[in-house]
Amino acid sequence: MKANIVLLPGDGIGPEVVSAAVQVLEAVGQHYDHKFVFTEYLIGGSAIDKTGNPLPEETLQACRSADAVLLGAVGGPKWDDPRASVRPEQGLLGLRKGLGVFANLRPVRVHPALIEASPIKSDRLLGVDLIVVRELTGGLYFGQPKKRDWVDGQQRAVDTLEYTENEIERIVDLAFRLARQRRRKVSSVDKANVLESSRLWREVANRVAQRYPDVTLEHVLVDTAAMRLVSVPQSFDVIVTENMFGDILTDEAAVLAGSMGMLPSASLNGQYGGLYEPIHGSAPDIAGQGIANPIGTILSAAMLLRYSLGLEQEARAIEKAVDQAITEGARTRDLGGSLTTTAMTQAIIERLD
Ligand code: ATP
Ligand code: MG
Repeated sequence: MKANIVLLPGDGIGPEVVSAAVQVLEAVGQHYDHKFVFTEYLIGGSAIDKTGNPLPEETLQACRSADAVLLGAVGGPKWDDPRASVRPEQGLLGLRKGLGVFANLRPVRVHPALIEASPIKSDRLLGVDLIVVRELTGGLYFGQPKKRDWVDGQQRAVDTLEYTENEIERIVDLAFRLARQRRRKVSSVDKANVLESSRLWREVANRVAQRYPDVTLEHVLVDTAAMRLVSVPQSFDVIVTENMFGDILTDEAAVLAGSMGMLPSASLNGQYGGLYEPIHGSAPDIAGQGIANPIGTILSAAMLLRYSLGLEQEARAIEKAVDQAITEGARTRDLGGSLTTTAMTQAIIERLD
């Protein structure tokens, strides 16, 4: 097949890890006879430097017409001046909004050889393989009113947790479809004992579940979910939840995997190609040294093949090669080893079959 992939290397270690993932995609393309066409555009701080705009119109247009977008990271100390009117992060937020990606997917798999790298260091992590589906465009982050005013001589601040049935339905449905490709279990996380929006969330989730009789649905209160993530993480397959609950739970889940450098993400909406990026930031402290762990971005490329191009076998080949490289001792510095970004990438490419 032929696919147009837009690359947004961005700032800091972004260009280093994106280049690593492109090498892996090229190797996969050669092996399976696919033609991936890569075109690079500006975003974030480097876009501000060259154009004054963290998300040039040209970049957004290219992303909208691409089959998929692979992004590195944006931001860094150079653009951290709080008085600046344009900031690199606006580029990423604008892109998510411009693509209308309402679902953020973060898989967490714990490699048995990396259990020691996680603060939990326990057999409880054996076999952890879960994915958090976070609602990204609604909920407490965007509900209206959102305001400050004065009441009885003091300031008051208001945030609103708001969801429509349609917004809940599309994200829960996506979680069920994912579960069908996995272990057929959905854990819908809410706070239905307190929040009205959560009670609606539960109703809609129950309704969606009727269309998927082969998938098990459980409702979990968010406080219980936070506890279970560290005590019995293997009990989860697909977790689906509200925007802010998801923000908190994905950071908690990330710790299980040992290093931020390991974890991929996808942001989807079904209409455009999807946006893929590692969960880590631009890591200015190690940028330009060639020592960044490329695995989070390489696994994001695997997700891109799976969700935007429908290339499941190819996605699995990448995941298997990463697993095997780790099993055989390949480690970048964040994992306690000394491989460079290039050497780690090579170790993975050699193991593609
Ligand atoms: P942002 O605000 O952009 O999300 P952040 O402040 O959360 O960034 P990161 O840039 O993700 O932070 O970096 C946090 C720490 O993790 C840094 O010490 C960084 O060097 C390290 N780190 C992040 N990604 C990687 C990677 N791919 N390989 C190695 N170390 C990494
Ligand atoms: Mg961060």
